[in-house]
Amino acid sequence: MKISIPPSWRNRVARYRLTATKCRDCGRTLYPPSEVCRACGSRNVEKVELINEKAKLVTWTIIYSAMDGFEDRRPVILGVLETLESKARILAPLTDVLPEELQVGLLMEPVMRRISEEGEAGLIHYGIAYRPLVKT
Ligand SMILES: [Zn+2]
Repeated sequence: MKISIPPSWRNRVARYRLTATKCRDCGRTLYPPSEVCRACGSRNVEKVELINEKAKLVTWTIIYSAMDGFEDRRPVILGVLETLESKARILAPLTDVLPEELQVGLLMEPVMRRISEEGEAGLIHYGIAYRPLVKT
C-alpha cells in the first residue's frame, strides 16, 4: 500500500503506525498483523502497536543493485529486527547506518523515512525504517 504524507510530517513517528497482532492464546506477537495467529492457528488475536518499541538487529541483507526510486541512496539495507518487549520479528529497511557498523544485537528504533519519490509530480512515499538508537 502506498501512502503519501506531506514532507513536514517527516520523522513524526507518533503519527505513523506499526501495528501488529498479539495472540491471546500462545502470546506470540506477529508482524505484519494477521487475523489468524501464524504460530498456533488461533483467531483469538488483538491488535498491538509496536511504534514505541526499540528493537535489536537479528540479521540483515545488503542490496547493491538499484531498485526503481532507490538509485540515489544505494546500497539498500534490509534488516530483520526483534522488538525488545513483544519479541515481534519485523522486516524493514535500515537507515542512518553504514554496512560496516551493523552487528547482531545492535539496538535500533523505528523512524519514518522517505521510501520513494514518483516522477515529476514528486509524490513522496513514507514508511517505517529502523536506525541505530541515538547515543546520549
Ligand atoms: Zn497463537
